[in-house]
Amino acid sequence: MAFDAQTATAWITASEAAVKADEARLTGLDAAIGDGDHGANMARGLAAALTNIAERAPSTPGDVLVAAGRGIVAKTGGASGPLYGSAFRRAGKALGDTTSASADEVGAALEAALTAIKGLGGANEGDKTMIDALAPAVAAFQAVAADGGPLAAAAAAAADGAEQGLAATVPMQARKGRASYLGPRSVGHEDPGAASTALILRALAEVVA
Ligand code: ADP
Ligand code: MG
Repeated sequence: MAFDAQTATAWITASEAAVKADEARLTGLDAAIGDGDHGANMARGLAAALTNIAERAPSTPGDVLVAAGRGIVAKTGGASGPLYGSAFRRAGKALGDTTSASADEVGAALEAALTAIKGLGGANEGDKTMIDALAPAVAAFQAVAADGGPLAAAAAAAADGAEQGLAATVPMQARKGRASYLGPRSVGHEDPGAASTALILRALAEVVA
């Protein structure tokens, strides 16, 4: 299966549904080490992404992701809004004007999203953020794609990598974002942004399966 505008739209649709279904869990994670708004932020942002996609009816997968990113930035509060917004925008731009992206191209787009988040937020692996889910996901995706694996297998590996990355945030002490204010008390909890990233990558794996 190719990654076209319809698939990209299905990805954002499935992400919105997954976040909505798990909104209370995301909020609970953020209540433990932040301010308890991550579930609401993500639900609002992805709903705005869907509205923006529906209004613009983009014809390429790149434009779908750019429209999603713009919707998220416009409507999401918190640190995660600009971070996810730039991630989707930069991923969309990386796809260029292709109407059907290959696994390699989707891998490069995910890497562009990771670079955008690192550039904007200044965090790195090990700081207990969404990067700790996205970085292993990108690596796993690209390893399968570089081996000539199909998009479905690459996306499944990425979702597994994100979930493992999420679990690995539990013993970390937060060094970026609101959770860093807690110092050592941030240890022992999953990072909320890593949890939403894992949901979004699992949604991708499901729509391309
Ligand atoms: P806020 O912290 O402003 O309330 P959210 O609760 O929506 O925003 O999002 C919190 C999540 O954002 C964190 O769990 C973390 O994954 C992510 N985050 C915060 N700061 C950064 C950063 N500098 N780089 C990457 N991710 C970050
Ligand atoms: Mg918060």
